[in-house]
Parts: sequence; structure tokens; C-alpha cells
Amino acid sequence: MKNNDKMLYVVLLFILFLQYQIKQQQLKTKNMTTTKTPQGIIEMPRISNSIIFERNRENADNQNLNHCPCCGKAITNPKYFINSIYGGDVYPAADKNEYDDAWVMGVGSECRKKFPKDYVMTESEL
Ligand SMILES: [Zn+2]
Repeated sequence: MKNNDKMLYVVLLFILFLQYQIKQQQLKTKNMTTTKTPQGIIEMPRISNSIIFERNRENADNQNLNHCPCCGKAITNPKYFINSIYGGDVYPAADKNEYDDAWVMGVGSECRKKFPKDYVMTESEL
């Protein structure tokens, strides 16, 4: 091999090594964020009668509207929101971190009273 070729080879190897390092770092950061769990998780204050809940939810579905996660009733114009995780639990409104299996959902204006105050947000707090 000519000297120039050797140099090129070393530089290429170095670039590959750097790329590998960056990938590892990215994976590490990703794992750190995905394994995090919010503090202060509480159970969704859902109505105990699941038959009524399902009936309400179906009614909302038929109107193509989102339903309240507490009573299943349709929400036409959501004004109040909660941080939900794992499809049912709730965590504090002030927590703006990104979590897996977590999203913001609307809650009915009557049912919002079933939550502690610091778990409910208005549109401006989203
Ligand atoms: Zn409700």
C-alpha cells in the first residue's frame, strides 16, 4: 500500500469508530429517557359502573367525539386536560417530561373535580 492509501485507511477507520461512539451515546440517552417513570402516579378516578361507562363511551364513539376517561361521556369542547400513562393512570400536570405510554387527554369539566388540583391543566398550561 502507498503511504497515502494507508493514511486514507486510518482516517476511514477513525470515522467509523466515531460513528460507533455516537450511536452508542444516542442509545444510552434514549434508554435513559424511556426507562424513566413519572412521580406521583395515581389511579384514574373512573366511575365504578363499567356498563354505564361503556354505554357512554359508545355514544361518544358514535358521534366521533373523544370520551372522558372517568365517565366515558363525550367531550365536545375539551377545556381540561390530564397527563395519562399506561392507558389509565394519571400523573401531575406540572410534569412536562416525555414518557413512553404517556399522553395528554381531555377530561370532562365535571369529572375534573375528581382529580387533585395539581393533576388538571387548562389549554394554556399544555
Ligand atoms: Zn367524565
